[in-house]
Amino acid sequence: MSGAYDLIVLGAGPAGAAAAIKARSLGLSVAVIDEAPSAGGQVYRAPSPALMATQPDSDRRKGEELRAKLAASGAVLHANHRVWSLTPGFSVIAIGPDGPMTLKGPNLIVAAGAVERHIPISGWTLPGVIGLAGATILLKAHDVLPGRRVVVAGSGPLLLLVASKIVAAGGEVAALVDAAPRSAWLARLGSMLARPDLMARGAGWLLALLKARVPIHSGAAIRAIHGADGVESVTIGPVDGDWRPVGDAERTITADAVCLGFGLLPSTEVTRLLGAEHRHEPELGGWVPAVDASLQTSVPGLFVAGDGAGVRGADAAPLSGELAALGVASRLGRGGDLASQVARIDSAWRKSARFGAAMSALAMPPPGAAAMIEAGATVCRCEGLTRATLDAAIAAGARTLADLKATTRCGMGLCGGRVCGEAAAMLIAAATGSDRVAIGQPSARPPLRPVPLAAITGAFDYDELPIPAPAPL
Ligand SMILES: Cc1cc2nc3c(=O)[nH]c(=O)nc-3n(C[C@H](O)[C@H](O)[C@H](O)COP(=O)(O)OP(=O)(O)OC[C@H]3O[C@@H](n4cnc5c(N)ncnc54)[C@H](O)[C@@H]3O)c2cc1C
Repeated sequence: MSGAYDLIVLGAGPAGAAAAIKARSLGLSVAVIDEAPSAGGQVYRAPSPALMATQPDSDRRKGEELRAKLAASGAVLHANHRVWSLTPGFSVIAIGPDGPMTLKGPNLIVAAGAVERHIPISGWTLPGVIGLAGATILLKAHDVLPGRRVVVAGSGPLLLLVASKIVAAGGEVAALVDAAPRSAWLARLGSMLARPDLMARGAGWLLALLKARVPIHSGAAIRAIHGADGVESVTIGPVDGDWRPVGDAERTITADAVCLGFGLLPSTEVTRLLGAEHRHEPELGGWVPAVDASLQTSVPGLFVAGDGAGVRGADAAPLSGELAALGVASRLGRGGDLASQVARIDSAWRKSARFGAAMSALAMPPPGAAAMIEAGATVCRCEGLTRATLDAAIAAGARTLADLKATTRCGMGLCGGRVCGEAAAMLIAAATGSDRVAIGQPSARPPLRPVPLAAITGAFDYDELPIPAPAPL
């Protein structure tokens, strides 16, 4: 199947959906593509009809609204389609339930969201350990608790969200362990005041935890997760201002699950594959595409929106989607004079973005956090590589993520470096003192997502393959 449009939007989360709706309102033909079964992205993922009927909370209602508006906009939504390759100009190549599909268009908005940042603490590969962001999906879309007695650990605002959801769903939070000290939260009060409504929501989560008497350990981190076939207990201890474990004031907490995460990283594999320039912006989660005021990247016609343009959160995402759509319309000379719309949306976006970026910065591990990773901890799960193996390669001269990939296969597995890349970069920085820009990004190559080989090759008979004539000696 194939099709051609004025605009293709990759991702039907809040950013991509808002971009598509705005572009349709300006008269553009638009296709949206997403690997999820319906629009909504991570934050407004569609719950089961039963859950929606019995527990229609505000995020679930917002999700329903977003799906209804997108359906009414006239944008063509290809759900259940996984984009595994793209070519300049643009062809977006995907695999769906009915086989391969290619969409073509001169403009592409990439609204691919974010991925979790992991620090590989000993025991993080045990069953029962789940990413903090992943836990939001369990709780919000499926109403399932991660465990009966859960330690929630890492950094950033998802700690409060996940712990309060567990308490609200009747689970027990054995401890909330936040690597950032309380002073780091207080230092960001000014930026949080840009969105008092969002600040009040966070305060509500904290109050619920205090009411449930959840022990909150600030300036602390998990030292190790223990268990034979699953999580049985967790040892925690203090960290210094640079998140290095310090002192021997450890305590061990019994638990059957751990929700662990250190903020989010913008998903940049598509913009990297298409050759856009990137900058390293720690307060936006790390590497982000370099963009102009309309969120167009250095590749003409390639725009970004939402967390993939820098982690600024769910409230900023739709506004950036609308800005990118206005940028596409201007590029095509459609929609008339858009200046006043751009100014209004840009001002609202900057307010929300200020709050979101402050939250993102709070979650960002400082360089000392590399000391949380013990020598025996598995860093690259796909290839089974420990810190000791990667440290040995670094001692032998590996200075970039590409060097580590070439020498150890770190990042060469199914995750394509999405899970291990940042931890590996932390290890290089810790050993060499190199700055993050010099260490580089994981390379982006198709397939961006695992796809069956038959989907690429199509059906063929080995006997019919043309065999080249032997080369003359
Ligand atoms: C797992 C997870 C859970 C989160 N939970 C929350 C939460 O509960 N509350 C909160 O405030 N924030 C949460 N966040 C942060 C939140 O996702 C964002 O702030 C907000 O959703 C950003 O919107 P977006 O449209 O930029 O991205 P997203 O909502 O992430 O949407 C991106 C979409 O792109 C699609 N996509 C990406 N790559 C491909 C591909 N190759 N092929 C096809 N489709 C693709 C994805 O399926 C997804 O639907 C979460 C983040 C993650 C990673």
